[in-house]
Amino acid sequence: MTLDRKHMKPHILESLTVLSKDNSPPELGVHVMSEFLFCPRAGIIAYETRQGDTGADFEAAPALGGIPMFEIDQIERDLEVRSRELKQLSIAVGGFVGGAGLVYVYQPALTIWLLVSLIFMLLATYSWWRPAITSWFQLRARLAQSRLAKPNEPNWEHKLQQEIEWWELIAAGFQSIKLNRPMHSHEIGLTGKPWRILHRGELRIPVLRIHVDETDGSMGQFRPRLRQQARLAAYAFLTETCERGNADWAIVMFNYGDRGLAFPLDDAEWEAFQTGLPRARSEFQRYENAAQYRPRPTDQGRVCRGCPFGKPRRVGLRPTILNGVEVLPRITTDNLNREFHCTCHDRFGDEVPPHKLARQLGLTD
Ligand code: SF4
Repeated sequence: MTLDRKHMKPHILESLTVLSKDNSPPELGVHVMSEFLFCPRAGIIAYETRQGDTGADFEAAPALGGIPMFEIDQIERDLEVRSRELKQLSIAVGGFVGGAGLVYVYQPALTIWLLVSLIFMLLATYSWWRPAITSWFQLRARLAQSRLAKPNEPNWEHKLQQEIEWWELIAAGFQSIKLNRPMHSHEIGLTGKPWRILHRGELRIPVLRIHVDETDGSMGQFRPRLRQQARLAAYAFLTETCERGNADWAIVMFNYGDRGLAFPLDDAEWEAFQTGLPRARSEFQRYENAAQYRPRPTDQGRVCRGCPFGKPRRVGLRPTILNGVEVLPRITTDNLNREFHCTCHDRFGDEVPPHKLARQLGLTD
């Protein structure tokens, strides 16, 4: 893949290209890069879980089980499938009831058995038709929501963070693209996949989805941190390289919702990327060169407070799987003698990370 030099800031492009020539870097994922910038242990865990980049910094729940759908054509397709299934169910139930009516005319004594069988059949298939009906209603509501949205978009001339609503952008003519494969830049050894890319004409906007605590009002106050700035710029870089067009903006969506913020990518983001990629790569190379490399947590563990890799969970709920192998949990118990472990402690072993939940449970000081 040849870099599209037209849109990249020349000094940034030059520094990243020089880096690749000097170091012949192994390919690094954008997600892994941003985790290394957060904490070197998080970078190693992100790399060893090998789940690939989804453009979301938390595990996306299955469609309709949590995160709803965001593409109109996908919603329409799923709605069609659900409608067909429910039509078949109604025909089956209608046929059964019709048959019971006929039996009632000719063999009234058998009718009760037929109706009891119908009830048993419906109970036996409850786990199939109940979610089918629920998702049919949810899909209809989602489609209506998308169609009722009025076109609205940020003022692109106004280079400030601005609120957006997903369906308003779609109504304004943006097309949402969900990539099947990550984008690559072999020149700088970078690969990554934003959660979505919005296209319209020459405009390309990479979208990142993140988790924020809605209870503390941090959604409205959100400002991207260094690792998120680097990640947004890295996605924009890959988008310009691979998808062509202008990626001068990026969007951050929150949790499972339809609201987010649009950010103009300025010097702060590009510099976070320019300095962050070599920093992350040098940590990654140390890890690759020494099997027992055990970096210290960033900021003496203060970042562990909200880190998902340090969040304790009950033993048996979800094992820690690294490099495709299940890791033995390192168990700690709370005062009720319940057993907990967390991914970071399972991986590095030396201490229980001071996550806020671990403190509440008394698993650590
Ligand atoms: S729990 Fe702490 S040390 Fe472990 S990865 Fe997260 S931030 Fe790093």
